[in-house]
Amino acid sequence: LKTYMATNEPVLDYAPGSGERMALEDALRSYEGKMTEVPVIVGDDQHFTDEFRYQLCPADHQRQVAKYHFATKELIQKAIDISQKVRPAWEKKPLEERAEIFLKTADLMSTKYRADMNATSMIGQGKTIIQAEIDSACELIDFLRFNVQFAMDMAKYQPVCTPTDTNYLSFRGCEGFWAAITPFNFTAIGGHLPSAPAFMGNTVLWKPAGTAVLSNYTFYKILREAGLPPGVINFLPSSGPVFGETITSSPHLAGINFTGSVETYQRVTAMVTKNLHLYRTFPRLIGECGGKNFHLVHPSADITQVVYHTIRAAFEYSGQKCSACSRLYVPHSLWLQIKDMFVEEYKKIKLGSPLEFDSFLSAVIDKASFQNIKSYLDYAKENPNLNIVVGGVCDDSKGWFVEPTIIETSDPKDKLMQEEIFGPVLTVYVYPDKKWEETLHLVDTTSPFALTGAIFAQDQSVIEGAQWALRQASGNFYVNVKCTGSVVGQQPFGGARLSGTNDKAGGPQYLARFCSPQAVKVST
Ligand code: GLU
Repeated sequence: LKTYMATNEPVLDYAPGSGERMALEDALRSYEGKMTEVPVIVGDDQHFTDEFRYQLCPADHQRQVAKYHFATKELIQKAIDISQKVRPAWEKKPLEERAEIFLKTADLMSTKYRADMNATSMIGQGKTIIQAEIDSACELIDFLRFNVQFAMDMAKYQPVCTPTDTNYLSFRGCEGFWAAITPFNFTAIGGHLPSAPAFMGNTVLWKPAGTAVLSNYTFYKILREAGLPPGVINFLPSSGPVFGETITSSPHLAGINFTGSVETYQRVTAMVTKNLHLYRTFPRLIGECGGKNFHLVHPSADITQVVYHTIRAAFEYSGQKCSACSRLYVPHSLWLQIKDMFVEEYKKIKLGSPLEFDSFLSAVIDKASFQNIKSYLDYAKENPNLNIVVGGVCDDSKGWFVEPTIIETSDPKDKLMQEEIFGPVLTVYVYPDKKWEETLHLVDTTSPFALTGAIFAQDQSVIEGAQWALRQASGNFYVNVKCTGSVVGQQPFGGARLSGTNDKAGGPQYLARFCSPQAVKVST
């Protein structure tokens, strides 16, 4: 382990007749007509409480894929007590031993449970096979393996010793418990947010999203099979307010690892601030929130590249990625050509069930999301400044289907250019070719977010100028390639402004947030 070097998990292609395709089809079949009962897990005990909800299949909302129980306030409190009890023994385990558990989890996911992880994300979260594969298999495996490498590297950075003193840093965990509050849109984020603090010697209370509970529970069971001791991560599906109030009113709160909406993150932060006098330590807050991510096209751009990447960044997983492209800036001289190419490309992408393997995108996650996206499309239909180029139709008769939609606006400050919609909706502003500098300013100032963005240009000086002008406009910046699909270890991910605290998951600094190092000086 001392020389451990992580490599990215290969993305499998699931060609018809391949071994991985057959395994996946078997796994999907095993869930047909089955509803999984998902318990609350505190320490080693499963609890089937009286309050429960159903996780529905987004593409077929009559299908109940899981019945999941809600943790009561008492159970969340019990999880806090247990997490405090098991912490010393867990923290005392050498880093190598903790690493073995997470590496074994990654290996089990790569082989024995790959099909199960993908199948549960497909039926539960509406992921097409490729979107499931890059997320629930590859990205989550990569997070676990790269964290081991990053921790080993971090442990090597030790202070200077002198002839009279030996100095070293002990990378101890934080005193107290961490809470992980995780979203539906990436199974990898669901699994990573509790795993990273746990790996660094902390104990964790994990609140998964109800709309991702089946894949998240599948992952939790793999962790335990790999040897994670009971109580190190407690699995607590629950109501947001009950979970939030219980953890933020405990004196033992050490930190919150959060991905979700700006509003929820602001609420959680406010609760922590209000309770500061209660805590034994200042809780650390990590937040990854939304985005209103841009593709900016310069007149020198290769338009084939623009069309290919924009369609993918805007519509893969129905735009339900924090990183999804939702505003596009195109020069007047290129727009008609690009528009025609969009219309052509659009004909090739299929909206359908994820169980039909040729679907490019599927239904959005739930009814609330469907209604929210639909309200933006209704607004577009009524507004004379907006012209729907393709799409615009919503149909929730079987699943929550929203057509991928491209809207042209004559107002660069329209709310469609500012607000996160979290659906397959791309808004285009066509700018006068001569107004490049003004357009850079618009890109930088139109939305409150700063998560991802891409520039498409062939002129190197233009690229460099844009990179400088937009240096605060995104945490991840891409050149001639789409603004989604960051890869662990290659493009550490996170944004600033209202997109979050930019702690860069999948990068070497991330793990530092989960330790509270002690500097030791020993006189010789
Ligand atoms: N890391 C993912 C990407 O680059 C996005 C994660 C998210 O949506 O939160 O596409």
